[in-house]
Amino acid sequence: MRRFPNCFVTRKEKILEILLWTTVSLGAVSCAFAIINLPVSSIDVTFPFFTMAAIAVTTFLQIQLPRTKMHFTISDSVIFVALMLYGGEVGILIAIVESIYTSFKLKRKGVTIMPRTLLLNCAIAAIATQATVLVARGTIGGIQATVDSGTPTDFVTMMSVLVATQFMVNSLFVAVFAAIRSDKPIWKVWYEYCLNALLMFLTGGFLAAVVVKALHNLEPVLIGVAFVVAVVVFLTYKRHIEELRLTADQADTAERQRAEQAERHIEELQHYIREQERTSEELRESRERYRHAAFHDGLTNLPNRNLFIETLKFLLEKYKRTPNRKFAVLSLDLNRFKTINESLGHSVGDRLISHVAKRLSSLVRENDLVARFSGDSFGVILNNIQMADDAVQFARLIQRHIQKPFTIAGRQVFTDASIGISICNSNYEEAEDILRDADIAMYHAKDKTKECIVFDQAMHTRAMTLLQLETDLRCAIDRDELSVYYQPIVDLATMKLIGFEALMRWNHPQRGIIPPNEFIPVAEETGLIVPMTLWILQRSCSQMVEWQQRAPDNASLMISVNLSGKHFAHSDIVEQIRRVLLETNIKASSVKLEITESAVMENAETAIALLKNLRSLGLQLSIDDFGTGYSSLSYLHRFPIDMLKVDRSFVGTMEDGTENGEIVRTVIALGKTLGLSIVAEGIETIHQLHQLRILGCEYGQGYLFSRPVPVEEATVILDDKSRWQNIIPDNNPAVVAQNREFSRLRLAK
Ligand code: C2E
Ligand code: MG
Ligand code: MG
Repeated sequence: MRRFPNCFVTRKEKILEILLWTTVSLGAVSCAFAIINLPVSSIDVTFPFFTMAAIAVTTFLQIQLPRTKMHFTISDSVIFVALMLYGGEVGILIAIVESIYTSFKLKRKGVTIMPRTLLLNCAIAAIATQATVLVARGTIGGIQATVDSGTPTDFVTMMSVLVATQFMVNSLFVAVFAAIRSDKPIWKVWYEYCLNALLMFLTGGFLAAVVVKALHNLEPVLIGVAFVVAVVVFLTYKRHIEELRLTADQADTAERQRAEQAERHIEELQHYIREQERTSEELRESRERYRHAAFHDGLTNLPNRNLFIETLKFLLEKYKRTPNRKFAVLSLDLNRFKTINESLGHSVGDRLISHVAKRLSSLVRENDLVARFSGDSFGVILNNIQMADDAVQFARLIQRHIQKPFTIAGRQVFTDASIGISICNSNYEEAEDILRDADIAMYHAKDKTKECIVFDQAMHTRAMTLLQLETDLRCAIDRDELSVYYQPIVDLATMKLIGFEALMRWNHPQRGIIPPNEFIPVAEETGLIVPMTLWILQRSCSQMVEWQQRAPDNASLMISVNLSGKHFAHSDIVEQIRRVLLETNIKASSVKLEITESAVMENAETAIALLKNLRSLGLQLSIDDFGTGYSSLSYLHRFPIDMLKVDRSFVGTMEDGTENGEIVRTVIALGKTLGLSIVAEGIETIHQLHQLRILGCEYGQGYLFSRPVPVEEATVILDDKSRWQNIIPDNNPAVVAQNREFSRLRLAK
């Protein structure tokens, strides 16, 4: 049996080192003892023969035990035979030689044998054989004497002692070293690895006994039988071991496959974990991106409203703790940005916004904050200001910088900003309120075309009133609070009624009648103007149909309805109006739509297209409040219109020779040149009426004839045909004709 072909290749613990060298020392003592006491006389010619036979036998008859590095050989038989034939000293030396030989043989097969391993194996072989000799001497007396003259019982007892001692000492050494190295209990290692070897020792002992007995008695038959038995036992055992090895190999293969599979699983797991880590990293990054996007504006990369509000909340809390640290909020909106966007394109608009963002950022201090809310609307937080005037000074600084030209796509673009300012104070509970107030102040600044305004409480009250108005207006249609008033339009030549203008009134449950100038802008802002317009159109057209059917000479009466510029944006507008005409069954030619001059001029090209479509319905179109909207003459002749209504601000203050009088005269002349009828609004006095008649104005409308009145009163006016005949004494055809001629001459001047 080979005990430790390669047992100390790994790092040694100290205890193993000590044990190793102790064993080697003991082996050396045994070896020395054997050499010194070698009984040279007892070695005869058979010894070389015996030695060679032993080497040959151990070379060929050798089986490795499956899953161990141990070999089953009959080397132990050789040692037993040597002990019995030549004595203990020779046995020890034979054991050492056999150990060295086997180690070299293994080395030739490619097994690494360290010198210390070789030493240890030899030492164990020597110690085990020495121990066997000593135990045999101590129990049964001499080995050779027992062989020579002992009874069969003595011989069997001796063999048992030899086998038992050799096995115990060998296996104990093996178990101790293996147990220390593997951290297992000695008995367990001994049981697992060494107990099997008992069979080898028993077989070896039996074979040795047979051989010695045969040699001793010189019985060739016994020798032959012993040899055959030994070979049969050996071959059977070899087969058994082969089978064991096969099973062990299969188990090894299965285990290797399992291990490989486990390794694959581990790799897959590691891959999966790496994937997971990568995904979570990507997730983290995308969360960061989303977080950034949630708090920043994509175009300028400035903080957005969310971050602005968060910062305001923080500052407000801080301010409550240390009220001497004031801060101001600036709400900033570019003026005419819409025009720039529409005329130069959105990409120029975007670049302008980016440039403005950079300028603003370069103006603020480190602790301040600039944010972009949307479109052309920005916010600034000014930290640590002493008083409101600091914020105003800063707002003016911003304005000066914004007013400087921006160079975009090779052209210079100009803009300026309206700025509203609110200063933090202890009344503010919510951050949003401070920003709201800055916004309100900014809208005031825009309305009043002032550059910057600091918020005051009156603005808030007004804003609240407007908000309330808006809420109430939403319910007004449903609650039937709207009504139509009619104001007569009169032919100034004949002083006869030619129609009415329908004007909306709102009978507010708490506030009473609210004038349109107050609620129409709110309706326009909220989009309510669309249903409201359709409502008044429906109502007044139905009314006009009724009036037209009332008397034959009413058939030519017209109804004028105001159309808001905000309604233009509705692509559906033409269809909506057509539907009303159909539903009310009114002749389209009896309907006139009034559109303010500013509304058509704001977007002249679109207006022209839309007016054409409306006119294709067969109705008439009139430009309202003419003179206030800076009409471009180049456009005016392209508008498909029928009538101009001179704004009442000119009529109201016209006196012969004044500038307004000249304007009225010019408008009338213009109308005539373009083939348009003229209506003068706001005629309040006979004097104005006179002048207008002299100027040849065809139609008039004003308090002089009637204020706007409810339907019942309008019906009374309608029935009273000669109502205005006597307003002016010279109302006879000859005077009128003369007046017309007079005005024609004046216009021709
Ligand atoms: P507008 O279309 O120019 O209507 C004429 C306004 O002048 C009416 O004011 C009328 O009462 C007023 N007016 C007429 N003659 C005189 C006068 O001799 N002296 C004075 N001081 N005023 C006179 P109202 O009814 O307050 O309407 C104001 C404006 O509100 C209208 O001006 C029109 O632009 C708008 N509006 C009224 N109803 C509607 C509507 O149903 N839809 C739309 N879109 N706007 C409407
Ligand atoms: Mg009007
Ligand atoms: Mg008007």
